[in-house]
Amino acid sequence: MRAIIIGAGIGGLTAALTLRRAGYDVQVFEQTSALREVGAGIQISPNGSRLLQRVGLGPALARRAVRPGAMVMRRWQDGAVLSSQTLANLCESSFGAPYYHLYRPDLLALLAEALPADVVRLGHQVIDVFPREDSVEVRFAHGVSTTADLLIGADGLHSSVREVLFGAESPRYSGTVAYRGLVPAERLPQLGTSHNMNGWLGPQRHFMQYYVAAARYVNFVGIAPAAHKHVESWSAQAPVAECLAEFADWHPEIQSIIRAVEVTGRWALYDREPLAHWSLGRVSLLGDAAHAMLPFMAQGAVQSVEDAFVLAKCLEHAHHSSIPEALVRYETIRRPRVSQVQARARENAHTFHLPDGEAQRQRDAELAAVAGTNPLLASTWLYGFDAEAEFG
Ligand SMILES: Cc1cc2nc3c(=O)[nH]c(=O)nc-3n(C[C@H](O)[C@H](O)[C@H](O)COP(=O)(O)OP(=O)(O)OC[C@H]3O[C@@H](n4cnc5c(N)ncnc54)[C@H](O)[C@@H]3O)c2cc1C
Repeated sequence: MRAIIIGAGIGGLTAALTLRRAGYDVQVFEQTSALREVGAGIQISPNGSRLLQRVGLGPALARRAVRPGAMVMRRWQDGAVLSSQTLANLCESSFGAPYYHLYRPDLLALLAEALPADVVRLGHQVIDVFPREDSVEVRFAHGVSTTADLLIGADGLHSSVREVLFGAESPRYSGTVAYRGLVPAERLPQLGTSHNMNGWLGPQRHFMQYYVAAARYVNFVGIAPAAHKHVESWSAQAPVAECLAEFADWHPEIQSIIRAVEVTGRWALYDREPLAHWSLGRVSLLGDAAHAMLPFMAQGAVQSVEDAFVLAKCLEHAHHSSIPEALVRYETIRRPRVSQVQARARENAHTFHLPDGEAQRQRDAELAAVAGTNPLLASTWLYGFDAEAEFG
């Protein structure tokens, strides 16, 4: 049977791999003329890496990723350690899979390289989708159309497929932006060789720093408040001085990381309310198109990988007539879990950014208490999850 996927992001490409494994003839249509991911880092936790290993990407991931030693949370002003969670080796022994930090274009490239060359069609912008009883038709901006037995909208936050299925609805602006930068690691020798991830929490802001691209670069993300009217576009750049000013009173190590960068990206952060349904007949959604979330759990892409594996499991024994039923099963399995992650990400937007004072002290005490036992245990529901396991 023929499956069409709209969007060649991390979610769409992973779904192409899993649906091919389930026996589908897959075509991915991507609007851009080249496969693109923003030049920044991404965290892939064990619940995602275990699945990517299953489609044969283990060796390539291990070559291109960094395995962080620990995730160290610090106080914004004096750098005091609030918690330290070991990751390398402990993730493998506790959850059977590694925690990885990757350069996004590397991840996209290794997903694309695992597919036959003719699967992804670039320069195909979808302008309309017509779900029918027996098939689904898709129309492109250059006037061509095609049909398939099923269609998956993996077309991101501003998904057109979602709009066709459920109508237009604006995403929710979080009131925060992410300043992002990549610094060649040799410019920051003071960070040492442990390859830990450092997260700094402070009033209204937080700052994360970790290594990517086999530790050749230090990636940083600084979250700061911003009124909507200041944000021009989803992928705008900002002067380095603006990012520096946002973290002016913060620890000198943060200042030194920002000073070492040449270009700073500035992304406005949006999410959406959980959808009541993802599917209509032979059409469904996956990844950000289905469940855009704030990045404060580092799970948006990982959840799209989980989606792709559950989708393929639901479809592997489907017949032409049972595809709509299989898609309902897919969303029924996935909705509770991604809604939980979406909600946790919103909660973190609050707890990460508490002002100095009693509530912040209480949060720090809780972080320290978790770190004192086995901090990874608290993440078992997330990192220990095997999206394919319930299928046996
Ligand atoms: C600051 C920040 C940090 C993050 N950190 C992490 C992290 O550490 N770990 C993690 O798991 N997640 C993280 N995320 C979330 C993650 O980036 C997203 O959840 C993920 O990239 C979504 O992938 P996707 O494939 O669903 O959509 P996208 O990557 O948005 O891909 C959608 C694709 O569809 C194409 N498209 C759109 N419309 C059309 C059309 N009409 N026709 C054809 N093609 C179309 C687009 O061009 C694009 O290629 C972070 C997000 C942000 C903003």
